[in-house]
Amino acid sequence: MKHSNGLHISAAICIVALTTLFFSCSKNDKDLKDPSPVPNAKEEMTNYLVNQGFDQQHIVFDKDRVVIEGDIVITIPELKKRVADWKAEQKSGVPQTEQRRGTYIVGNAYNTNIKFYIDPAVPTVWRTAIEGAVNNWNAVNGTRLGMSIVTNQASANTRVFMGYENSNWIARAYLPGSDSKPGVTVEINSKYNTLSASQQLFAITHEFGHTIGFHHTNQTTGTLIPGTPTTDPNSVMNSTVLPWNGFTAGDIKATQILYPQ
Ligand SMILES: [Zn+2]
Repeated sequence: MKHSNGLHISAAICIVALTTLFFSCSKNDKDLKDPSPVPNAKEEMTNYLVNQGFDQQHIVFDKDRVVIEGDIVITIPELKKRVADWKAEQKSGVPQTEQRRGTYIVGNAYNTNIKFYIDPAVPTVWRTAIEGAVNNWNAVNGTRLGMSIVTNQASANTRVFMGYENSNWIARAYLPGSDSKPGVTVEINSKYNTLSASQQLFAITHEFGHTIGFHHTNQTTGTLIPGTPTTDPNSVMNSTVLPWNGFTAGDIKATQILYPQ
């Protein structure tokens, strides 16, 4: 959307994706006729998401899930649960602040070793990017966060698999659930198998950021993490893919705040 090569990364309350141009939305809008939520519930879910800082124009209902900002995915049942929690909080007078976001990061039972399973169909180029992304996150100092790749799907927290859509998202991922588990999947669009290795590494590092609870630095002002910069153009969590050039100081600080040692 905004940047040079035009490749764009997006996210949903649980899935996040990388994209080329923004508005793939028009295409997805056709899916609104599916037997998804009744209008009222949809309105309520939209209100909740807008309250969380998401731009209403970038919320797309797609059958049993919602895709936000192009690459963040959340299921309708999960979203309904969040709306119910949100309404209960409003009623009880619990302040709606950044603290709420802490509810949906990865719990201590999982965050020292988040286990990724790579589907056999994932080509070598992406496998290399996945290994690099795990190394990137593991190299952040001053945090309890840890990740690894496992070969047994049953023992994994997050499955990485290939998808295809003639669209502008490069990859997309689920955010952690209200059960404090890491986002359940990362889907890679095979349309971008020939993207540069450096951009693929950026893309997967970005998606793994979604699986541990990060939203887009440049888009979700409502969930700003206190103490981190309000603008950070080279942040890995911006929604436009860049060649990988390391985490910014803001990325590192945010990680240390969400996952202190
Ligand atoms: Zn994203």
